[in-house]
Amino acid sequence: MFDVDKIRDDFPILKRKVHGKPLVYLDNAATSQTPQIVIDTIVDYYSNYNANIHRGVHTLSQEATDKYEQARIKIQHHFNAKEAFEIIFTSGTTHSINMIASGFASLLKEGDEIIVSALEHHSNIVPWQMLCEKTGAVLRVIPMNLEGALEMDFYHNMLNKNTKLVFCNHVSNALGTVNPIKEIIDAAHKVGAAVLVDGAQATPHIKPDVQELDVDFYVASAHKLCGPTGMGMLYGKQEWLEKLPPYQGGGEMIATVSFEKTTYAGLPHKFEAGTPNICGGIAFGAAIDYMNTIGFNEIASYENELLTYATNQLLEIEGVKIYGTSTEKTAVISFNIEGIHPYDIGAILDKLGVAVRTGHHCAQPIMDYYKIPGTVRASFSFYNTKTEVDLLIEAVKKAKLMLS
Ligand SMILES: *Cc1c(COP(=O)(O)O)cnc(C)c1O
Repeated sequence: MFDVDKIRDDFPILKRKVHGKPLVYLDNAATSQTPQIVIDTIVDYYSNYNANIHRGVHTLSQEATDKYEQARIKIQHHFNAKEAFEIIFTSGTTHSINMIASGFASLLKEGDEIIVSALEHHSNIVPWQMLCEKTGAVLRVIPMNLEGALEMDFYHNMLNKNTKLVFCNHVSNALGTVNPIKEIIDAAHKVGAAVLVDGAQATPHIKPDVQELDVDFYVASAHKLCGPTGMGMLYGKQEWLEKLPPYQGGGEMIATVSFEKTTYAGLPHKFEAGTPNICGGIAFGAAIDYMNTIGFNEIASYENELLTYATNQLLEIEGVKIYGTSTEKTAVISFNIEGIHPYDIGAILDKLGVAVRTGHHCAQPIMDYYKIPGTVRASFSFYNTKTEVDLLIEAVKKAKLMLS
């Protein structure tokens, strides 16, 4: 049995009150909360072995280096990468994506095509626009439909010998749609294009297998899966990481330096210039361990129960419209109440202790498609409860009463 009460004891923040009401935290798609074991890992690092890595021969430096590299191996195993050096530590999904976009600048020429999906986060649109400006490549967009799913026929028709890169999120942060990434990857490979999958929103719910997917790049942020902010990862196939030039110059990424010529370090150090977020990397490893002790199958089935429970109750409220109704979705509900601005609902929910997100969710093109300014987004995690869903529903009813 999934013991949610026991799990909630792992998260100190879930005991706090907001405006005198118990916190109902339903903004998990923006960032997840941190279990005590991850907090302890951070405290342990700064209390006992804070030192720079890969450089010192002294004990603290060796301990920090060992723990940091062990975290890399934990992440390698979690994503089933073939090699630990295929995991690059970054400051998050945005950083990872920019790293690839910048690397591809030297590999693209005028007339090449990049395909992105209509369901992207801004962090997955802007870097490609910048890349196109730099290289003369053309950006093409896979359209979406009213359910919030991608129109795959359009995608298959778009692919051609000029397609060099395809970028898609695994799960849409605004709607929760799970995209058919295996189909996207296989079709792209048939025309020789590389595929980058943004897993920021999928990794809290799904355990991806990068070898089985045969994906070229897969990126994620630690803070959405119970880890710290400012920490993330980039998985890249060895052959691609070797082909791409380094992102930044600096310490740690070089083999030899002279004023005539510098040679670059091997993987993963070629992409990890400067002193990294050492503690963040180690805490990321601890967060992955924690999530795996709960189990991703258990997480998915419990969250799905919450999603169905919340969806059914919300739809009983007159005037509620849910955006993103694909059958393949994670525990995210984006909705509006007819005639009421999402921001006003969010503000009243906060007064009642319920934390949701309101706005465009960094996905303005999706809002434009539905011709709405934004939505109220409730996103669930495995530590949320049915009682909390009830509190959400009660709060939405109250907000509707006050605002209409
Ligand atoms: C959160 C998110 C990002 C951005 O992640 P950062 O940690 O802010 O870099 C990108 N894509 C998706 C789908 C997201 O949900």
